[in-house]
This record gives sequence, C-alpha cells and structure tokens, in this order.
Amino acid sequence: MIDTAKKYNVSVIPGDGIGPEIAPPVLKVLETLSDALGGFEFKFTILEAGDAVKERTGVALPDETFREVKESDVCLFIAVGETASEVILPLRQKLNLYANIRPAKAYPNVANSRADVDLVIVRENTEDLYKRVEDGTEDWAVAMRVITRKASERIARAAFDLARKEGRKKVTCVHKANVLSVTCSLFKKACQEVARGYPDLDFSDIYVDACALKLVTNPKAFDVIVTTNLFGDILSDLTAGLVGGLGMAPSGNIGDNFAIFEPVHGSAPDIAGKNIANPSATILSAKMMLDWMGEHRASQILEEALIKVLTDGKALTPDLGGKAKTYDMAEAVSQKIMERR
Ligand code: ATP
Repeated sequence: MIDTAKKYNVSVIPGDGIGPEIAPPVLKVLETLSDALGGFEFKFTILEAGDAVKERTGVALPDETFREVKESDVCLFIAVGETASEVILPLRQKLNLYANIRPAKAYPNVANSRADVDLVIVRENTEDLYKRVEDGTEDWAVAMRVITRKASERIARAAFDLARKEGRKKVTCVHKANVLSVTCSLFKKACQEVARGYPDLDFSDIYVDACALKLVTNPKAFDVIVTTNLFGDILSDLTAGLVGGLGMAPSGNIGDNFAIFEPVHGSAPDIAGKNIANPSATILSAKMMLDWMGEHRASQILEEALIKVLTDGKALTPDLGGKAKTYDMAEAVSQKIMERR
C-alpha cells in the first residue's frame, strides 16, 4: 500500500527550566492526534539551545541547532532561561520571522480568566528597541529605536490579512506618536496607508498607555492589535494576565516561508523541577502550528480536547486551581482526542 500521509519534519527546542518537562508530554499529544486522524505524520528532531548547552559549550544557540531548525518544516520552541536573547532573538531575526502573533482567548474554567477576551496581538518582530543598538558609560546610556516603512507596512499587512482570515472585524494600531513623533508617526502612517487596501475592516489607532488601560477595563473593544516590538511584548503579557496567566498564552513567530511556535512564558525557574507547569500554552502554540501547516481539522480537534479537559476540571495544573502534574494534564488531552466522536 502506498503511504500517502503528509510528513512534517518538526524541529523541537525544549530549552531550560520547565521546557524539558513540557516538551515530551505535548509531543505525545501531537502523536496521538496524528494517529487518531491519519493523513499526516510528525518527525520530531529534538535540538539543544539555551542555558544548559551554553554552560557546557559556551554557545547558547549551536550552529547545528540553527542548521537543523532551518532545514525543518517548522519549529516548536518551548522555553529558554537567561540566554533567551541569545537564542530566540537571533532565530527570529536570521529567519526573518517578522510577525509575532500572540492571541489572548478566554477558555472555560480557567482560574483568574476574564470571560470576555478574544483578541490577537500582531507584534512587529525584527526591529524597534529589539535591534539592541545600545551604548553607554557609567553615567549615560542610549538605545536606538529602529522603525522602517518596509517592516511597518509588512506587519500591518500581516495584521489585516490575519483579521480577514479569522473573520475578525477590526484592527487597532497601537503607538505613542505624541511623544515618539518620528518613529511612532512613521509606524502609524504605514498602518493607515495599508488600512486603505482593506475597506472591509474597521481601522483605528490608540496610544499605548490608553490601550493598556482599556485592555483591562474593556478588552472587548479590541479584536486585532498591530504594534511595534516592545509595546507588543508588554501588552501581550498584560493580555495573558487577562486570560489566566502565562500558562494559557501561546504565540507564533511567522515569516513568509517558515515559522517558530512558542508559549509566551519563559523557563519559569520558580516552578521548574516540580512537573507542575501548565502545558496549555504549548498545546495552544501547537494548535497555531497546525493551522499554519494547513491542518485545520487537527487544530480544531486539539483545541476542543483541551477545552473538554478544562471544563471537566479533573486534570488541571496548580496555576489553574488543580493538583495535576504537567504530564497528567497533557495525557487527559490525549484521552479526549481518542474518545472524541
Ligand atoms: P525567564 O527568566 O525564563 O523568562 P521568568 O520566571 O522570569 O523566567 P516566566 O518563565 O515567564 O518568567 O514566568 C513568570 C511567572 O509565570 C512565574 O511565576 C512562573 O512560575 C509562571 N509561569 C510561567 N509559565 C508557566 C506555566 N506554563 N505554568 C504555570 N506557571 C507558569
């Protein structure tokens, strides 16, 4: 019999802290999904990067890891500790993964989650203060904020395209053009110009400080937010807080031909080694990966299985108010995939 299943070569960077505790059970969930649905298979290549490999070899992102990531179809990245800026920033920049997509969606039965949140932050991923052009002495320090028309238009288009694809209605540009009148004005203008090509979508803009307030008082006012790198970083932690914390916040770093999906959280050294990290942020990042690969049915079934586990409330990690271990919660998701009708 001819094997017609699509094969996806997925590079996986478990990293440090809670990363190696989350990776194996989540990969098992993905294998359960491909076994249950058929039609596609995963080949996972586990790669080293982060604090542990730097301690051993002096390099946080080994050449071989970079090469393997580049040669894979897509990458799943869990968490890197102190060396995060030596790993994920170069990966994003070298692979030109210019769009950082950070959804914030309320799921049922999640402790400390607002019920009325379903938005996506589309964050420019290659420039702004994250270019890390800094200088200083003991007495002064300066950082250069790089904003280009090309990158601003590209991220604006990514935001409008995402809004259309997901059936969303509204795009809001977040900036601080009243103070950063050169850099933010350029970004805002680029967004305004791109908006003209999408007359079917509402467009508005707001100052970042007002946006932070409104996200807390009335998150329903937002649908898709497009913003610069640093503002997006800060606001997406805020929106993660609206939906139950970093254990529930997935993300994708997306370019034209490649993508890296990763939970928003870091290596969480305070809970590492206890096997109590919430695997949901990585499961939801894997769901985004499946959508990016075009496996929409698998993505939907994975999300439905997670929702059932959350609703049942029997296998929740401590941050969600339960007592389950990371692998118990992931295993419960696999069970729901297998039991589905
Ligand atoms: P790093 O230096 O790697 O960024 P950090 O502790 O500064 O680590 P995070 O790892 O993002 O930042 O963790 C912030 C807080 O959120 C910590 O209290 C951590 O325990 C909690 N947290 C992060 N991820 C999870 C998770 N998956 N499940 C439960 N709690 C989490």
